[in-house]
Amino acid sequence: MSRVSLRQILPKPTQVSDTLPAMARPRVNLLGVDIGGSGIKGALVNTRKGELTTERYRIPTPQPSTPDAVAKTVKNIIEHFDYNGPVGCTFPAVVRRGVTLSAANVDDAWIGTDADALFEEATGLPFTVMNDADAAGVAEMTFGAGKDQSGTVFMITLGTGIGTALFVDGVLVPNTELGHIHYKGREVEPWASDRTREEKDLSWKKWGKRLNKYFTYLDALFSPDLFIVGGGVSKKSDKYFKYIKTDTPVVPAELLNEAGIVGAATRAAGRQAARRPSAASKRTSRSRK
Ligand code: BGC
Repeated sequence: MSRVSLRQILPKPTQVSDTLPAMARPRVNLLGVDIGGSGIKGALVNTRKGELTTERYRIPTPQPSTPDAVAKTVKNIIEHFDYNGPVGCTFPAVVRRGVTLSAANVDDAWIGTDADALFEEATGLPFTVMNDADAAGVAEMTFGAGKDQSGTVFMITLGTGIGTALFVDGVLVPNTELGHIHYKGREVEPWASDRTREEKDLSWKKWGKRLNKYFTYLDALFSPDLFIVGGGVSKKSDKYFKYIKTDTPVVPAELLNEAGIVGAATRAAGRQAARRPSAASKRTSRSRK
């Protein structure tokens, strides 16, 4: 007697996504927007792979960079992509629950602005705004140099400002802002940012030695397991990493200047998933009726 396998008699398994109407399915391709002091960039991101699926589109940051002017630029970016869906967005300041609470390299009017609400009103789309270094860190921890790294990891972005993102066993501790700490009586950011290197025409050696002092200080304070260095200058790491002599390993970021866009879109995708009632809870509520 031939045996019938279970596979033949059981109904074909249905994918949860097959049972949901198209609109209720979580998007995988989300728009990420990276707001910086000099440029606002956007691209669509495959948030499962951490890859851009379009070219980046960049518009110079309006000056003065007031909330209304920036919101208009963000709207232009969305129109450029003809995009309709959740948006992940970075901002170079402390961002708590979508509200910007500082303004180091942007207009002071941002202090206390509900950026989520401002952009949602300007565009009609749901926004998740987060600190730019935190977003870059999320991208590196999910897809790049920090993937599968446990313990304490610092992402440090070197650009116009110095941004920091702290992860403990992969969980982000947001808004650490350690570019603004003081070392030997001076604030670190105006002394050791990449902008300062350029403006003061510092040699790689001189700048690298400043970074060494800063990283050694962070090392003493937090004893991290890894430093990941991001920002545009991370691709020139061979020129200055040799001067950073911490016990903790220092590695360059892998997503380079895409990290902010990828991290913000990834965070927005996570938020979108968290907002949707799960298939299981839908089934439970249906069966209770
Ligand atoms: C800001 C941070 C930001 C960093 C990098 C600093 O001046 O205070 O919020 O992450 O610049 O843009």
